[in-house]
Amino acid sequence: MTTTESATAEERRDFIRDIITADLASGKYKEIVTRFPPEPNGYLHIGHAKSIALNFGIAQEFPGHCNLRFDDTNPAKEEQEYIDSIQADVNWLGYKWAGEPFFASDYFDRLYEWAEELIQRGLAYVDDQSQHDIRVNRGTLTEPGKNSPFRDRSAAENLDLFRRMKAGEFPNGARVLRAKIDMAAGNINLRDPVLYRILHAHHPRTGTKWSIYPSYDYAHGQSDAIEGVTHSICTLEFEDHRPLYDWFIEKLPVPSKPHQYEFARLNLTYTVLSKRVLTQLVRDGHVASWDDPRMPTIAGLKRRGVPPPAIREFVKRIGVAKANSVVDCGMLEFCIREELNRSALRRMAVLRPVKVVIENYPEGQVEEIEAINHPDNLDAGTRKIAFGRELYIEQDDFMENPPKKFFRLSPGNEVRLRYAYFIKCTGVVTNAAGEVTELRCTYDPATKGGNAPDGRKVKATMHWLPAAQSRPAEIRIYDQLFAKPSPDAANFAADLNPQSLEILKDARVEAAIAETNSSEAMQFERQGYFVRDKDSTPERLVLNRTIGLRDTFAKEVGKT
Ligand code: ATP
Ligand code: MG
Repeated sequence: MTTTESATAEERRDFIRDIITADLASGKYKEIVTRFPPEPNGYLHIGHAKSIALNFGIAQEFPGHCNLRFDDTNPAKEEQEYIDSIQADVNWLGYKWAGEPFFASDYFDRLYEWAEELIQRGLAYVDDQSQHDIRVNRGTLTEPGKNSPFRDRSAAENLDLFRRMKAGEFPNGARVLRAKIDMAAGNINLRDPVLYRILHAHHPRTGTKWSIYPSYDYAHGQSDAIEGVTHSICTLEFEDHRPLYDWFIEKLPVPSKPHQYEFARLNLTYTVLSKRVLTQLVRDGHVASWDDPRMPTIAGLKRRGVPPPAIREFVKRIGVAKANSVVDCGMLEFCIREELNRSALRRMAVLRPVKVVIENYPEGQVEEIEAINHPDNLDAGTRKIAFGRELYIEQDDFMENPPKKFFRLSPGNEVRLRYAYFIKCTGVVTNAAGEVTELRCTYDPATKGGNAPDGRKVKATMHWLPAAQSRPAEIRIYDQLFAKPSPDAANFAADLNPQSLEILKDARVEAAIAETNSSEAMQFERQGYFVRDKDSTPERLVLNRTIGLRDTFAKEVGKT
C-alpha cells in the first residue's frame, strides 16, 4: 500500500462490510471466507477490479481469507490463456489468494453425485424437450410456465438417462437435467432451472472426461459451500438467482451454508465492460490484442502504464453500493494522474521535433545540464542532459506569425529552455512546401541555469533535447476507444472512436530512456505520463502515453 491509499475501516464502510462486522460481532462466524470467481472466458477488466478489491480487501481487513476460483463450467468458451492472465492480473493488482487457485471443475464429481441425489429424491428430472421448447414453455413475467411432458418420469428412468448423458451416449442439446421446483413460480429462475447440459467439448482441465457440464447456478453455490465461503459476493444481476442459490443449499447435504450478497457492478463512461464485447473487439481486430492499451482490461491498463495503486484508489473512491450507476471515466483518470504525479520521475521528450541551431554556440562543444528528477522528491536526485549547438524543440512551441498571446518561440522572441539558457529566434528555414524545417537561434551564455543576471524576464519555458545525444522513439498516443459516453453494447462498432490511436514515429527522448528496460511510467515535462511498451526492440524504442498532464478530455466534453 502506498501513502495515497488510506485504508481505515471507517473509510471503507459499506453495506457488505457492515453485514460482515455484525456477523463477526454476533459470533455467527469467526472467520470470513470470500472468493473471486471469474469465468476464464476472457481477460479481466476494470469492473472485475472492483470485485477483486472487495473480495480480497475484505479478507485483508477481517480475519479470514479469499479464494480465487475459476468458474470453468463452459469449456466451449474457456481457455488456458485466460486462466493464466487472470492469475497474473490479480497478482499485479496486489492481491493474494489463499493457497492454490480452485476450479469449479475440481468439484465436478461431487456436483454429479449431488445431482443423482436430487434425482433420487424426485427433485430433478431429465427433459428431452428442445432448447427452443424449454424456453417457450418457461413462460413470461406475467404468464406461468408449462410443465414439461417429461417432468413426471420415474426416478429410475431419470437416473438411467442421466447416467447415459454422462457416458456420452447423446448428442449436444439432446437432453438436459432440470431441477423440479415450480413452473408457476413468480421468479422465473425457479421454473425448473437447467442443472446439466450435454456438451461434447475438450475442457482445459478435465479433458474429455465429461460430456455433461453443470450450469452456473448449480455449480456456483455448491462450490461456495464446499470451500466454506461465508459471504458469496456477486453483482446485482444475480439478485433474482438468490432464491435458487438458497434452494440448492437447503436441499443438498452441503458442508456449509454460504450466503449470497449482491452489489452494483461498475459501469464507466466511454467504456464497455462486457467480456462478450471485449472478446469481439479483439477477434474483429478493432484493437490489437487483449492488452491493447486502449482496452479497459487490467492487462491493457498495465501496458498503458497505469500503476496498481491508482486502480486500487479508484475502486476505493467509487465505493460499494446497491444501486447501479455509471462512473465518470474522469474519476479513473484523476486517480491515475494523482498517483503518477507522486511516483513518476520527470524526463524530457520532444514528440514532434523541429531542429534548432544555436548560431553563437561553438561547433563541436557539448556541456552537461543538470535536471531534477522529481520536484517534490529531491531524494530522487538529478541527471545530466547534454546541451550543444543543435537541439530539438516541439513544433508547436514555435510560430512564425504568432497571435498576440503566444509567448513561446517566434521570430525575435526570447524564451527559456528548461534548466539551460534563454534563446532568441533569429531565422526560419522552410522547405518548398513552406514547412518550417529548422530554426536559427542565438543563446545568451549569461543565462545558464535559466535566469538572466540583468533580471530580464521571459514568458515561456520550453522543453528541448540535444539533437545528437537524444534518441529516436515511436510514441503512441491514445484517446478513448469509444466516441460516445454510453456506447451501445449491442452495436458497439458504430460507437468506436476512429481517432483512438495516433502514432508519432519521429519523437525524440533522453538517451538514458532508450538505454533502460524500465517499465515504470515517467512524466515527460509538459506532455504527460509515458511508459515503455513491450513492442520496443534494441533498435526501436516504443512508448505509450499513459495519460496527458491535464484533463483536456473533460474540458472538451464540457464544451459540447
Ligand atoms: P461479462 O462481462 O461477460 O458479463 P462476467 O461479469 O460474468 O462477464 P465473470 O468472470 O463471471 O464475468 O466475473 C467474475 C466476477 O466479477 C463476478 O463475481 C462478477 O460479478 C464480477 N464482475 C464482473 N463485472 C463486473 C463489474 N463491471 N463490476 C463489478 N464486478 C464485476
Ligand atoms: Mg459471470
